[in-house]
Amino acid sequence: MAKLLEGKPIAEIIKVQLQEEIKGLKDKFNITPALATIQVGENPQAAIYLKSQKRLAKELGIEFQEHNLASSTSETALIDYIKKLNQDKSVSGILLQLPLPAQINYKNIPIHIAPQKDVEGMHPENVGQALFGKMRIGSCTALAVMELIASTGIDLYGKEAVIVGHSEIVGKPVSLLLLDKFVTTTICHIATGQRGYLPTHVKRAEILVVAVGKPGIIQGEWVKEGAIVIDVGINRVEGKIVGDVEFDKAFERASYITPVPGGVGPVTVMMLMRNLVEAAKLQQGD
Ligand code: NAP
Repeated sequence: MAKLLEGKPIAEIIKVQLQEEIKGLKDKFNITPALATIQVGENPQAAIYLKSQKRLAKELGIEFQEHNLASSTSETALIDYIKKLNQDKSVSGILLQLPLPAQINYKNIPIHIAPQKDVEGMHPENVGQALFGKMRIGSCTALAVMELIASTGIDLYGKEAVIVGHSEIVGKPVSLLLLDKFVTTTICHIATGQRGYLPTHVKRAEILVVAVGKPGIIQGEWVKEGAIVIDVGINRVEGKIVGDVEFDKAFERASYITPVPGGVGPVTVMMLMRNLVEAAKLQQGD
């Protein structure tokens, strides 16, 4: 039977650390970190995230600036807007709310956010720093996954990890961060699933990270006895939010498992704020 790896208590510990750091920034440089969020058009899902970011920013004493652009905004106009925020000294970090309207391709955007204001850690420079093990600002979700794993106290050296999903925001950065800790990492993706090899890989995972967005894609009986299971997936099924892992069966076999909701999510938003604090420090040459 697993222990439930809840995100809230972990996020609370980091919150206290961040409050100290924010106080330190005020004392040392007389600055208050400011997060500028950009929303293009309206989206009910984005509105929920925005609300929780705003609440957390308030608790931390972070300045929160909302920039609402029309749903008809072109990709070029969005990039121009970002460039202005890059120059704006009152802004420490820039966050682009997803999803974006169809005329904007998200993949074209991160390169235009100044690396030192890139609180989502998606600028190629920040992604590249992870490759060299020198990352200061990184993918919030990947950092959250690492915090959750670390909270179990597991010695990572030489462990077998299997990551399901190879997206730029989750699977790929998680694999780099684990590799940096000398974890043997296997990354599964659509082709792994199509060849029917998903169970083979999952069954030998001592650490299993799943970020696909398909409910129940990982059957509970595939989970290795004693594995640490981090379920990143968020899916709405019959009005309820569920993850990608068949929870009840996986719970019986794992040593630790994250609930959905309440696992990765609360830590991810805290990592956003940690990136912001890191961004503010970098801008002061700290
Ligand atoms: P994404 O960009 O759609 O990536 C999904 C990944 O799953 C892709 O790499 C895809 O491979 C792979 N995949 C699809 N079908 C598969 C299969 N049958 N077998 C193996 N791999 C398969 O999604 P994402 O942005 O990474 O997000 C993944 C999930 O995590 C979503 O549910 C999202 O809502 C959630 N999420 C949660 C948080 C949080 O804070 N809790 C943060 C971010 C995302 P191909 O690209 O090759 O098709």
